[in-house]
Amino acid sequence: MMAALEETTKICTKCGYGKPTDKFGNQPMAKNGLSSWCKECISKQVKEYYQGHKVEAAEYKRVHKVRYDKYRQKYKQTLRGHINSRFHDIKERCNNPRHPKYKYYGSRGIKLRFTFNELYDWCVTNHVNPRGLEVHRIDNNGHYELDNIEFITPKEHGSKHKE
Ligand SMILES: [Zn+2]
Ligand SMILES: [Zn+2]
Repeated sequence: MMAALEETTKICTKCGYGKPTDKFGNQPMAKNGLSSWCKECISKQVKEYYQGHKVEAAEYKRVHKVRYDKYRQKYKQTLRGHINSRFHDIKERCNNPRHPKYKYYGSRGIKLRFTFNELYDWCVTNHVNPRGLEVHRIDNNGHYELDNIEFITPKEHGSKHKE
């Protein structure tokens, strides 16, 4: 009977095939409660969408990484960048038990007693650019404090620790 056929099959508006109604997903807002595209067409569309976006997302990431790396490289060459990398090293040595040099610093009770901004201001005031220099504690048992540090060349530093 015609009526029975209409109830059990439906034409997909995407692929144009008549398919059993169980091949269509539910769509409460639609006339007969079924979506106008068959499940196969919808899943194909979803797959294509994500494939397209995957490529887009990878490209976005790639471009941004290049831009970010360029920015990082530039930043590292600035005064702030040089100070930041020394500050980070000190912080890790003193506070991160997984740092290879923690045993000489953090576990000996050596503490970091200035903030990045304090170190930055100190460098600016004292005309210190730590580029190519190492930070040395004047009193080897003292902490990393602004009146106990100096920036010296690796060579100078090596000879200080030989004494
Ligand atoms: Zn279809
Ligand atoms: Zn030193």
